[in-house]
Amino acid sequence: MSIETKLTAARTIVVGPQTPSNAIADGHVRLQLAVASLCGTDLHYYSHFSNAGFLLQNPVTLGHEACAYVTDANGTDLKVGQLVALNPIMNCESCAACLRGEENLCTAKKFPGSATTVPHLDGFFRDVIDHPARCCRPVADGVSPRHLTFAEPMACALHALNKGGVVAGQKVLVTGCGPMGLLAIAGAVARGAEVTAIDLRAGAVDVAVRAGATGLVIGAFDEAILDRKFDVVVEASGAIPAFNTALRAIRQKGRVAILSNIQLREAQVNLNQIMLKEIEVVGSFQFNREFEEAVQLIEAGTVDFDVLTAEAYPMAEAAAALEAMGAGQAFGKIILLGQGG
Ligand SMILES: [Zn+2]
Ligand SMILES: [Zn+2]
Repeated sequence: MSIETKLTAARTIVVGPQTPSNAIADGHVRLQLAVASLCGTDLHYYSHFSNAGFLLQNPVTLGHEACAYVTDANGTDLKVGQLVALNPIMNCESCAACLRGEENLCTAKKFPGSATTVPHLDGFFRDVIDHPARCCRPVADGVSPRHLTFAEPMACALHALNKGGVVAGQKVLVTGCGPMGLLAIAGAVARGAEVTAIDLRAGAVDVAVRAGATGLVIGAFDEAILDRKFDVVVEASGAIPAFNTALRAIRQKGRVAILSNIQLREAQVNLNQIMLKEIEVVGSFQFNREFEEAVQLIEAGTVDFDVLTAEAYPMAEAAAALEAMGAGQAFGKIILLGQGG
């Protein structure tokens, strides 16, 4: 059977191998999934078996955004019944990047539900998960698991805000109001920035407005009104025209932070703007200390994650949830409810 056929057959089994019967590895705990959420990365793997140039070698359970309840603490400090946020970055703790505190750039790290880790590690879209205790962040009582599943994607958004240097009082433009753009908006608003958001889809712009941004529907306004207005642009669409909008909308010496999940492609971008305005263009990949920052934001209850949630599906309907995401008409994050959710 070709790998493509194997993967196509596997696509019907998005929810992967269930209850591990083996012993729990040292330093790991066993968990019952509470709530997980869908990411563009999951959709790329589901739709064409690759993401950002990484091709799946064999079937794998998807999912890297989730929270769960501890069912076996396996001798660690965690308590049975405790709700924890799952940090999917299992870094090596000893390479140069790890020693700098940049575990996102650890070249030896393991990441679940991803072709970047070979052999692939099953992701979080399953009922029973074993995970390193050090990557489980227990939360205060009363935190909703429907909100806590946002810890990982919110950490990604906060990393992009940190790379862009977003602070209170700045004018920030977010291009693209998909789930990641919406989280960048909510994070920037929580920091006290003045946020404008643009998207082609009026429904997505509506959610951006509810998240605290001034929203503009592309095509319904003259983009010249954006020219040189912004201290920071967060590019969250991955669409090439949006890069050119970002380069015209940024002020001199402003920063453009790339939050979008860029696929392997060539693009025509107006590089001369980067020269003329001395623009800094910064990449953003996953997160570091922002995971803790995100969990604290969730615990504080300052962001309305219900507004940022498009739809909830039971885990058994994960495939339908991915199809709905692919259709592009679900505005906000799609979440998956486990038995513990
Ligand atoms: Zn993700
Ligand atoms: Zn490392």
